[in-house]
Amino acid sequence: MNMVTTALEVKALRKSYPMWRQEDVIALQDVNFSVDSGEVVGLLGPNGAGKTTAIKCICGLIVPDGGTVTYYEQYGKQNPADHLSAVLEGNRNIYWRLTARENLEFFAGLQGRSGVDREISSTLKRFSLHEKENTPARKLSRGMQQKLALGCALIRGTDLLLLDEPTLGLDVKTSRELRKYILKLVSEKGKTILLSSHDMNVVEDVCERVIIINNGKVLADDRVDNLKDVFNIHIYSFVLKGKYKLNGIKDKYDLSDIKYVNGRTKFKVALKSSDSFYNLINDLQKSGVRLEKIQNLDTHLEEIFMNIIENHDVSGVVKA
Ligand code: ATP
Repeated sequence: MNMVTTALEVKALRKSYPMWRQEDVIALQDVNFSVDSGEVVGLLGPNGAGKTTAIKCICGLIVPDGGTVTYYEQYGKQNPADHLSAVLEGNRNIYWRLTARENLEFFAGLQGRSGVDREISSTLKRFSLHEKENTPARKLSRGMQQKLALGCALIRGTDLLLLDEPTLGLDVKTSRELRKYILKLVSEKGKTILLSSHDMNVVEDVCERVIIINNGKVLADDRVDNLKDVFNIHIYSFVLKGKYKLNGIKDKYDLSDIKYVNGRTKFKVALKSSDSFYNLINDLQKSGVRLEKIQNLDTHLEEIFMNIIENHDVSGVVKA
């Protein structure tokens, strides 16, 4: 039987950046969460929410003002480099002057791994970098540098991976391959992954659980399925026969994607209760529009994320 262990525990983490002649920027205030081994957890939040600061504190690149970060407590390992690898924004973890292969050799060596030539070759191949293995990292494209940065994190063979925007700059095919690869790392090799991304498709594809932060506070920490149940948001697509401006209705129900195609008006709307659905139908009928089609679409994490970010009050409490 596999025992679940806590891979990472973050307690009461605080960090402010001092500013010259201005108030300090509070990046993290009392952040708490934990990640079990074998989990893939998404760290989400709008720009400036504190995600990168949290990841840097976890890797030991920034010293927090307060709080603790514990890794695999039960094994007593407390040096971040022993058991975690990170891919930070802007591919800062690779060496510009070293070739792609030399970078991989360097990072494997750093972890004390030798005899990994075949693994290095297969890593180069997996990320389609084999034809560029002798090219210095600075001469690779941005996407290739991103793939190399990931390869370097993986070749270290640590159990815990921190990935800050891992698919940024990758083409659609590589981004898809990477998502499959992340899932494989977890299911076959038992890795634990904490990743931040603004791409909700990536998060929805690979994460079972998400931690949503804003203004340095955790607003939600739950399984994606539970969040969908709790927020119970339904997305509908409407098609109306004729062209309508929908004044009044547009703002009252926050319609999106309004389009006029082939003499029809199309839009989408996110509604939280059956009451608002019937109210919208009533309002549309009262305004004299002709309904042609209504479709209930799947709820995506993006709608839930927006709802959480827009509906929390200043104390950080989420109103479901
Ligand atoms: P993004 O999604 O835009 O990358 P983020 O969630 O990763 O954002 P952080 O980069 O952690 O957010 O930034 C959190 C806050 O701390 C922001 O207000 C940012 O301006 C500030 N900040 C980050 N780094 C520094 C720094 N070196 N000096 C001063 N302020 C900083």
